[in-house]
Amino acid sequence: MEVQIRETCKECGGSGIISNPLYEDLLKLDRKKKKEKGRYLTNEEVEEWFSNQGYDPKKPPPEEYGCDNCGGTGKTTRWISIEEFKKLL
Ligand SMILES: [Zn+2]
Repeated sequence: MEVQIRETCKECGGSGIISNPLYEDLLKLDRKKKKEKGRYLTNEEVEEWFSNQGYDPKKPPPEEYGCDNCGGTGKTTRWISIEEFKKLL
């Protein structure tokens, strides 16, 4: 016998949303620029960066996207055996 359990999604931590790691890189670069040059990246530099990453700068990828693992619900379900279920209690 098996039971179905509902858990918080491990991929997104229950938010249903994954932040695009690309933007973390961009943010780091922006901070580095500020530190080294005393100014943040210009729009042109951001566009150039996207272009170098292989994206169309006019259509940059989304900053966040729905989690594939849970379909954006933040919860996942799985079937486990009664034995395994007892261990969780
Ligand atoms: Zn998720």
